[in-house]
Amino acid sequence: MSRRNKIWILLLIFGLVLSLAGCGSGGTSSQQEGTAGDKVYIVGAEPTFPPFEYTDEATGEIVGFDVDLIKAIAEAAGIQVEVQSLGFDGLIPALQAGNIDIVIAGMTVTEERAAAVDFGPTYWEAYLQIAVAADNEEIKSVEDLQGKTVGVQIGTTGALKAEELKSEGIVKEVKTYNTVDVVFLELMNGTVDAVINDRPVTEIYMARNPGKVKLTGEPFEGEEYAYAVAKGNTELLNKLNAGLEEVKASGKFDELVMEYFGGE
Ligand code: GLN
Repeated sequence: MSRRNKIWILLLIFGLVLSLAGCGSGGTSSQQEGTAGDKVYIVGAEPTFPPFEYTDEATGEIVGFDVDLIKAIAEAAGIQVEVQSLGFDGLIPALQAGNIDIVIAGMTVTEERAAAVDFGPTYWEAYLQIAVAADNEEIKSVEDLQGKTVGVQIGTTGALKAEELKSEGIVKEVKTYNTVDVVFLELMNGTVDAVINDRPVTEIYMARNPGKVKLTGEPFEGEEYAYAVAKGNTELLNKLNAGLEEVKASGKFDELVMEYFGGE
């Protein structure tokens, strides 16, 4: 091969390599840096439960303490999450069906639920309490629910408590609604005499509807909130639990508590 031909061939190869490299960097970098190929874990929440999860009126996005917490946990755990809105009574079935990967929804750990899904550690403690219309002077205790109609959200521990009081012959009727905002609307409309709901959430509805709703009676025994994954999904649960540890250790958890509860 002549010297001239050799130079041409070298130039050709050089050109080819350059163009391939150009293609390569354009074509593959988006895949390497992008998120398209990575697993995105779907988180189910029911967004009428402020400040834990609610819809930001301005953006239509689901926001709240739980949402920020699971996002912080995911970041610490190096995984990606996306929050989806579901009915409260649909959350556990959706986990079991594999339609979602994680539930965070101000969900109280109960024996029955723990038999169906795997919970992480408790991240929040709350109480159920009775709420009535602000001008109600009649209902001041559980006993005063005698013959009364109680409104609750479907599938909640508040609903369980109301049914329990009904079977004890105290509550006359339990009315079940899909979302907590409707439960409070029906209380203010007078459709129900009282509501049984998680106290921190009732406090937000009180603040949003000044002079309309009040808490009454003693709080019931504690509600311990935890996130959940499908039964046996220890791999994901371990990642989330390690993430929670980190979020607590870094001070991020306290930051969120300050933001949503004013440092409660
Ligand atoms: N903590 C209650 C429960 O687990 C209510 C939760 C909710 O309405 N989001 O049933």
